[in-house]
Amino acid sequence: MDNFFQHKARKRFGQNFLVDENIIERIVRAIAPKESDNLVEIGPGQGAITRLLLQRCPSLTAVELDRDLIPMLKFKFRDYPEFNIIEQDALKFDFGEFAGDRPLRIVGNLPYNISTPLLFHLLSFRGAVQDMHFMLQKEVVDRLSATPGSKSYGRLSVMVQYHCRVQGLFPVPPQSFRPAPKVESAIVRLVPHAAAPHPAKDEQLLERIVNVVFQQRRKTLRNALKPLYSELDPAQLPVDAGRRPETLSVQEFVQLTDYCETLGN
Ligand code: SAM
Repeated sequence: MDNFFQHKARKRFGQNFLVDENIIERIVRAIAPKESDNLVEIGPGQGAITRLLLQRCPSLTAVELDRDLIPMLKFKFRDYPEFNIIEQDALKFDFGEFAGDRPLRIVGNLPYNISTPLLFHLLSFRGAVQDMHFMLQKEVVDRLSATPGSKSYGRLSVMVQYHCRVQGLFPVPPQSFRPAPKVESAIVRLVPHAAAPHPAKDEQLLERIVNVVFQQRRKTLRNALKPLYSELDPAQLPVDAGRRPETLSVQEFVQLTDYCETLGN
């Protein structure tokens, strides 16, 4: 009967379907869903992970953009009356409103073409989120967990690490998918901090500073900050103005932001 719903993978939706049962089981074991969880899967696709998630958490909600997949998902999981499929773009979905007062657990083998904007969208709901488990391009997982001074360290590393504890879990090879992606993949766990370990006085300013300086990561901090602060006195900065942005820790970015906050705009 499943053949009735033959589906050709769509590139524009980043569709690479998981077919490796061992990997699927390993992912679900890492998530360890519970019946009482407020669990949301982004991009269920043909239901590879959904099937195991539903066995443990029958009230799962799935957010899927490709409307052609919805009838198949409804049919496949017709024995789970509490299974809720929302046909929507996850980039526009209000996870905060959906969560209500029940912290969300969000999971997904994410479409790689939108993974960075989607991560930033999800971060904006961090107060409503218990944890997140994602399959991403391995290069993105490397960026999420990168340390200062490394090649992968950048805007994504600083902003995600500011808000979350990041734990790279395990790699997934291309042959675990149909069609096989051209890149290596990996599973990552993100757990939003109950309170940021080094809170910035103005988080929007932190974001603005991080954005600007990483657009010019090879410049010195003094020069990279010029688009925002042309009159900066380098001697006053809490970190050496001759350093490159890519060498600053999250804590140092916070110190820099708190100093810039005193300058006004
Ligand atoms: N979970 C399935 C699996 O592991 O086999 C499919 C994963 S596939 C990499 C990504 C899924 O996300 C597809 O089902 C795709 O249609 C869906 N998708 C793409 N863009 C989306 C968006 N903006 N919002 C919600 N789902 C999206």
